[in-house]
Amino acid sequence: MESIEATASELLFYCRPGFEPDLIAELTERAANAGMAGYPRAKPDTGYVRFVPADGDLAGLAAALPLDGLIFARQRLLALHPLERLSREDRVTPILDQLQLTGLCFDSVWHECPDTNEGQSLVRLARALDRPLQAVLRKRGLLVPDAAGMRAHLFWSAGDRVQIAFSRPGERSEWPEGKLRLRTAPDAPSRSALKLEEAWHTFIPRAEWDTRLAEGMQAVDLGAAPGGWTWQLVRRGMYVHAVDNGPMDAALMATTQVEHHRQDAFTWTPPNPVHWLVCDIVDKPARVAARMADWLEAGWCREAVFNLKLPMKQRWQAARDCLQQVRKRLDAAGIPHALQARQLYHDREEITVHVRRLDA
Ligand code: SAM
Repeated sequence: MESIEATASELLFYCRPGFEPDLIAELTERAANAGMAGYPRAKPDTGYVRFVPADGDLAGLAAALPLDGLIFARQRLLALHPLERLSREDRVTPILDQLQLTGLCFDSVWHECPDTNEGQSLVRLARALDRPLQAVLRKRGLLVPDAAGMRAHLFWSAGDRVQIAFSRPGERSEWPEGKLRLRTAPDAPSRSALKLEEAWHTFIPRAEWDTRLAEGMQAVDLGAAPGGWTWQLVRRGMYVHAVDNGPMDAALMATTQVEHHRQDAFTWTPPNPVHWLVCDIVDKPARVAARMADWLEAGWCREAVFNLKLPMKQRWQAARDCLQQVRKRLDAAGIPHALQARQLYHDREEITVHVRRLDA
């Protein structure tokens, strides 16, 4: 079987609409840091970015830009040149022909659309094509029961325009369109609760939840009110110091697992070290990042999840600088750590960061 890199010609990224410039700035800088170059093809507010290797070295560019190292990308795929001006009468044949030419087999086909109003209006069309297309793909031996998890993505950006792309397990988001849709539980004190839940799904392997999000652990929630994030920690059986001048949800307080401290989150310190620190304060990202570094460096927590609000124009640069500050502080203190950051599906003008101390 052909390799994807030999047949695809560019990378295709999905992102939150409006964040294309931030994703492009990130891709360009990260590629350059790895000695690679790519050029973007993107339009504002479309929710996706094509990134083409400047010298044709798609494998090199892909290796320089793994999805889990990126902040502003929801999905990363290896893509063929888009098919345009598909006829209404027969959209399937050109897709089949292009797929056949690749020589690739796959065990699933996903139709996806941009996360825009226009994009979501294409979902019905894509659904209608799904069955007939799958039937022919099976007949031609392209869609097979076991192709080592290889997936074909048909990314519809207009009714007559589709871009075929591929992904392998371990290199992609497993969520359709890279979006983890979660439902707010009726007793959650705020919709913000979804952000922390998504952060755990994104940053913590499921097999480690029972040890790293364990019952009986202690946690601190800075800027906790009304309590969505605290509620998530309590749901995992943790005991939480909730720091906020604002009122906490009464039902949450009735669990007796929460101690409310009406104090300034930037100066409050814990009575004893805890496992988890979470923080969802709306403040300057550099100020929040510096406080998170204080906590991690002092050993007041072992893991932290925090949001950095990015209302400014140059969001990639701001995010990069904040994360560099945290890394620098921990490196200077000789503390081994892992740091990941991502603009989650439930994040708006913000990103979510996870840092874990790796020392014993
Ligand atoms: N994560 C919360 C939830 O899920 O319900 C929502 C947090 S809300 C976005 C931000 C909170 O930070 C507000 O309740 C605000 O009072 C609090 N806050 C902002 N600055 C603070 C500070 N210096 N000290 C304590 N709390 C602060």
